[in-house]
Amino acid sequence: MQDLIAGYQRFRAGRYSEQHRLYSALEAGQAPATMIVSCCDSRVDPATIFDAAPGNLFVLRNVANLVPPYETRRGHHGTSAAVEFAVTGLKVSRILVLGHAACGGVEACLKHDFTAGAEDSFILNWMSILQPARDRLMGERKAAGLDTAGEDAQLALEQAGVLQSIDNLATFPFVQDAIRDRGMTLAGGHFGIGTGKLSLYNPATGTFAEVPE
Ligand SMILES: [Zn+2]
Repeated sequence: MQDLIAGYQRFRAGRYSEQHRLYSALEAGQAPATMIVSCCDSRVDPATIFDAAPGNLFVLRNVANLVPPYETRRGHHGTSAAVEFAVTGLKVSRILVLGHAACGGVEACLKHDFTAGAEDSFILNWMSILQPARDRLMGERKAAGLDTAGEDAQLALEQAGVLQSIDNLATFPFVQDAIRDRGMTLAGGHFGIGTGKLSLYNPATGTFAEVPE
């Protein structure tokens, strides 16, 4: 724990000391305008990437930044619960799904044979959310003579996963209501870890474009 304690002590002396009034005011409540769905990956911290202050971002992190489709069966739907709270409780103005380079969850999905049936791994069960998009994308890439297992295929599936999650978000009735009634928006992005560059999805072109620095 020594590294964590040392980090905490730096936080107390540094950021907390500078922002203690903000922290104190935020204890009364939060009103972030943005929800970000990001990966658990230790290299992709939304607060760092967007240089965000406490209270700015409502962040949900899970394996491969996925949102499952709306489901009515009972279960422990942690991701859906966070989306529900952000949309109906906090009334965020936008939800950004943020994918990233070299995503281990996406790589597992790319390489796994889901035809074997029920999965006994939590990760593979979770990543099966992306299986229809993977099968469609890899079918298209194969037909176009593009690789289906290398770096380009991985990037393509990372981006397809972001779009799949946006489509899944739009299946939640309260998300549909928020889009219609108060103009909430859904957006997609991708962070290149090694380059440190952010790309955003442009629905007009159907591509991810780098954000100017
Ligand atoms: Zn990841």
